[in-house]
Amino acid sequence: MRLNFEGERVLAVVAHPDDAELLCAGTLARAKADGAAVGVTVLCLGDKGQPAEPIPRLAAVRRREMAAAARLLGAELSWGRVPDGALADDRPTRLLLVEIYRRFHPSLVLAHAAEDYHPDHRAASALAEAASWFCASRGQRTKSPALPAPPALWWMDTLGMGRFEPGLYVDVSEHMALKEEMLACHRSQAARAADGDFSPLLDLLRCQAAARGTQAGIAAAEAFRVHHAFKRARAW
Ligand SMILES: [Zn+2]
Repeated sequence: MRLNFEGERVLAVVAHPDDAELLCAGTLARAKADGAAVGVTVLCLGDKGQPAEPIPRLAAVRRREMAAAARLLGAELSWGRVPDGALADDRPTRLLLVEIYRRFHPSLVLAHAAEDYHPDHRAASALAEAASWFCASRGQRTKSPALPAPPALWWMDTLGMGRFEPGLYVDVSEHMALKEEMLACHRSQAARAADGDFSPLLDLLRCQAAARGTQAGIAAAEAFRVHHAFKRARAW
């Protein structure tokens, strides 16, 4: 069986700039190559990930870095603009994300897993799931009309693979170069490589793709699990 994203609209909903690069950019690149429309929604500003030598106006720097990465992929980029560390599954952010879904009309959402290590990622997980339901509810009013049906949703792997049990592996072997180029756009984060508590991101990206690839008997993979909630299960 060969997975084909032709005709799909795939939206990754992530907490921070660079999360998509680490967890699903290969899959987005593959979807794009198949003829899908792809988008990335970054919910947080990226304003707290400072290297030892602080970068002035970090949120603006990270916005430019993320825009450059999205351009490489050919993805539509949208933002939540919530400060890092302050993301919560609250009503205003749900409605903001519902409106983003209604504008992009995804057929598939890629979202952080509920078991992720980072509090912002866990909040993003809850928000992406709630919005995947409410975007198709006419009673939830935003500027744009309700979608005819909720999108499918796949949970993404966690950084470092902790606690995540994959249900689906996507072969991204042919898209590793783009995934790495996109990550290289995030220069402000590369500046944190010397921090004792910060993993060098390129090493992390390569190790994880290779480890998931090994589990699936291929060179490089990204791992997901399909969300089987009521009205959101899909036959592929
Ligand atoms: Zn993150």
